[in-house]
Amino acid sequence: MTKGIVVILTGASSVGKGQIRNRLLEDEELNLFYSISETTRPQKEGEVDGKDYYFVSHEAFAESVKNKELLEYTEFNGYYYGTPKAQVDFLVDKGKNVLIEVEAQGVGPIKLSIPDALAIFVMPASMEELEKQIEMRYKDDEASIQRRINKAKMEMELAPLFRNIVTNDDVDKAVSEIKELILKVQKDRA
Ligand code: 5GP
Repeated sequence: MTKGIVVILTGASSVGKGQIRNRLLEDEELNLFYSISETTRPQKEGEVDGKDYYFVSHEAFAESVKNKELLEYTEFNGYYYGTPKAQVDFLVDKGKNVLIEVEAQGVGPIKLSIPDALAIFVMPASMEELEKQIEMRYKDDEASIQRRINKAKMEMELAPLFRNIVTNDDVDKAVSEIKELILKVQKDRA
């Protein structure tokens, strides 16, 4: 059986990765399954454990790291996030395409393990637009806003390292560009 493709979706915090991700996952033609990350950050209202993330304790996360169960992991805004390896292997071996959403530093370690993964960097329409989005999303927490803006600036500096850059000035357009990239890789590998 042909193995599935691993698609890595990355870009700064609040650039709209979540919205793009959901649209891609809904598209049956893409045969795309979401790689659910482990995180130590608290569950937000509306989030579902085992769907959006596996919400785990610090101790459980440390155990996953110690047992080398994560393809990569990072600390972000005081919490840990990581990509469980077994889940990705399982889906890819079954011929399913897998979508991994990570912050930009997570991409390198994944590419080391899965060199033919398709990495896509999502750009904001502008830095001003991104700052506006971050401020709107985290309006009650000034310290978190500043941390996320600083982190977003650092992440944007990594953009030139990516061959596939998609600007999210229009979600429909961004989604269809990414869909085309995935279908092209799928065709090339068939
Ligand atoms: P949030 O707390 O807003 O859900 O996520 C914060 C950041 O962590 C986002 O940029 C998201 O893409 C990233 N992230 C989520 N899961 C993972 C993961 O497993 N590994 C890495 N490196 N980053 C992740």
